[in-house]
Amino acid sequence: MSSLKSSSDLHDLGVAQLAAKLAAREVSSVEVTQHFLARIAQENLGAFLATNTDVSLAQAKAADARLAAGERTPLLGVPLAHKDVFVTRDFPTTAGSKILENYRSPFDATVVRNLGLEGAGMVALGKLNCDEFAMGSGNDNSAYKPVKNPWDLERIPGGSSGGSAAAVAARLVPAATGTDTGGSIRQPASLTGITGIKPTYGRCSRYGMVAFASSLDQAGPMARSALDCALLLSSMAGPDPDRDSTSLDLPVTDYATDLIASHAPSAGEKPLKGLRIGLPTQFFGAGCAPDVLAAVRGALAEYEKLGATLVDVSLPLTELSIPVYYVIAPAEASSNLSRFDGVRYGHRAAQYTDLNDMYKKSRSEGFGDEATRRIMIGTYVLSHGYYDAYYLKAQKIRRLIAQDFQTAFTQCDIIAGPVSPTVAWKIGEKSDDPVANYLADIYTLSSSLAGLPGMSVPAGFGAGGMPVGLQLIGNYFKEAQLLGAAHQFQLATDWHLRQPPSL
Ligand code: GLN
Repeated sequence: MSSLKSSSDLHDLGVAQLAAKLAAREVSSVEVTQHFLARIAQENLGAFLATNTDVSLAQAKAADARLAAGERTPLLGVPLAHKDVFVTRDFPTTAGSKILENYRSPFDATVVRNLGLEGAGMVALGKLNCDEFAMGSGNDNSAYKPVKNPWDLERIPGGSSGGSAAAVAARLVPAATGTDTGGSIRQPASLTGITGIKPTYGRCSRYGMVAFASSLDQAGPMARSALDCALLLSSMAGPDPDRDSTSLDLPVTDYATDLIASHAPSAGEKPLKGLRIGLPTQFFGAGCAPDVLAAVRGALAEYEKLGATLVDVSLPLTELSIPVYYVIAPAEASSNLSRFDGVRYGHRAAQYTDLNDMYKKSRSEGFGDEATRRIMIGTYVLSHGYYDAYYLKAQKIRRLIAQDFQTAFTQCDIIAGPVSPTVAWKIGEKSDDPVANYLADIYTLSSSLAGLPGMSVPAGFGAGGMPVGLQLIGNYFKEAQLLGAAHQFQLATDWHLRQPPSL
């Protein structure tokens, strides 16, 4: 309205800025919502799987009524969209799979409820495309359509939260939810030049998140800045004792206030003085592309200017995180996905001879190649005679990986390195090669196996002008420290404000 040049400015604003305009009543939630819905209607990235104008506008009207009544909660009236693995009453939920086509949940996931009108008051714009059951690194495993990277429409946006990342990067939404089992928030954030944080395992409730690998799955926010992520995480997180027994029994933190308050340095002092950043030698070896390493090293030099010191640390089992994760995650997936049987949920084959045939046909028709591959691998590693050799062995190494992090954290406060060994690759380049996809997860899997919080912060550009993210990994429950370190970096740099050239 008055202070805006035109409504086309709205999508350039981040969450904090939109919230401030809404609170000042310079713009209404209905106007903001209409603006983003109009952009979404034009999108050519394959980012959205479902929208519903009536639902979104009704939510925006309700938020406006609360604003008119004087309510001032930090996110009231700001729109967002959800990865399609969070179940929602108001939109279908597919988890990117044909087996859940047209599925409608009778309830909202806890994260959706916490952020929505029953909680923070955000407006849901729809559901975002993802790899089937969050299995993938390129968002080319969606059963519906691949997602394109707004920086180069011929490239993948990363996965599995690729729809969330592409939508935020293309300014179709100011923020989105994502999930990270082995890197699915951090890697697509890195490859699309946005900010994302995977909190400590258990920080956000998994209730209503379609389960992939339950000991690893964790929800988190994806937005343009650390400040915006802090605002969202403060509302998403929190204990959910009646519905998710693994949710952490810790009070909800106001990350945004913490971040602003605790990082206002006194005059003349460097803001990150005393922060020790550990660089694992295994993250900086020949496996990482030189263009990615150059951007990461540039970001680390900036951290030194901000007062941080860099120390070498070692995570000796980094390479084993790939085989360990690709035993444990499929094992848990094979168990979780057994509920899709053509009886209780989703797709049922039209023709079958008996019950077994019905299960077989429904599941064969409903699951895509990657989900099928993981069900088979998982069933194999859990089967009698192989359990000790694969699953149990993987669990033992998982423990050692977690211990290595604790050793490293005796020398440093935060661990840093690349998120992905390369920039985003071309769509189709790795589609026929599952192992090539698995190898691309090398820098994100170990912290997932350990249950540690991690984030991706835009750190520059590499080959083809594609974005590169810096990964920051913290010790358990140290989300505030990670967000603070990212926020200081973003006060000193503008990588997170760069826009894809096509916009
Ligand atoms: N790329 C990893 C996989 O395919 C991680 C996915 C995720 O974090 N959901 O399993």
